[in-house]
Amino acid sequence: MNRFNAILISIICSIWSMHAQELSIPEAIRQRYTCELEQERTSLIKILLRIFNVNDQDWQQELIQTRRDCGERDEAFKARYARMYDHINPELEARFHALLRVQGVNDSDVVIVNNGEAPEAGHKFVGCSRRSFDSMNLTIKEQDALLLHEIAHVIYEDAAVWNALHSLLEKTSWYRKAAAFPLMVRWHRFSERRADLTACLAGYSYARALEEALRKIAPFSSTIQTSHPTFKSRERYIQAFCEQVVCAATTDGAVSVTKS
Ligand SMILES: [Zn+2]
Repeated sequence: MNRFNAILISIICSIWSMHAQELSIPEAIRQRYTCELEQERTSLIKILLRIFNVNDQDWQQELIQTRRDCGERDEAFKARYARMYDHINPELEARFHALLRVQGVNDSDVVIVNNGEAPEAGHKFVGCSRRSFDSMNLTIKEQDALLLHEIAHVIYEDAAVWNALHSLLEKTSWYRKAAAFPLMVRWHRFSERRADLTACLAGYSYARALEEALRKIAPFSSTIQTSHPTFKSRERYIQAFCEQVVCAATTDGAVSVTKS
């Protein structure tokens, strides 16, 4: 593609994106992201297990134990939040269950609780609060995009996997700990990026809403975040995702667009 064509496509994509609120995600893009994330997960876990000198069977055993621990921890958190705060806003609860269904999660297994604060994910629960959403001036769509991020943590059992890795880290020798530590950080950032991109894959409008929500919550968050990718980098990969969807729509012309 020559330079003129590249510039032209980029201008068309920008104009299109201003109007395109409900693009469907092309199957090729969905498959590519899903496949790349899965490959990254497999590769990171493989390296970490090698460092911990643990085989796949032991890893599965560790996961069974941490799932049990996480289940107990969930109950403790839920009981604590129930003592401290009112029941979650019913409208928010209904929206959460609708989002679970969109993501193909059996909604009787997962609950939403009022944690009085910003969104968080447990093993089988998501905590959030109407007050916190309102204080950050988030639209309904932006709230839903953040909830989809937390739902992704539940889908991928990120709490249990993290705890299982942590338990292996604690049991290993100091030199293996030193080798594993940077990869543990990488794993955590990967799980956050995967949660962001899973929310994006739920729909173009969610991707745009997530980008905007992160822009709004950034001033409320610590600037030093080792567990998450930086806000700048989150913005960058969400924008890259959106650009790919918009460009696929403009070049294929095979998706439905609803102006809103
Ligand atoms: Zn997260």
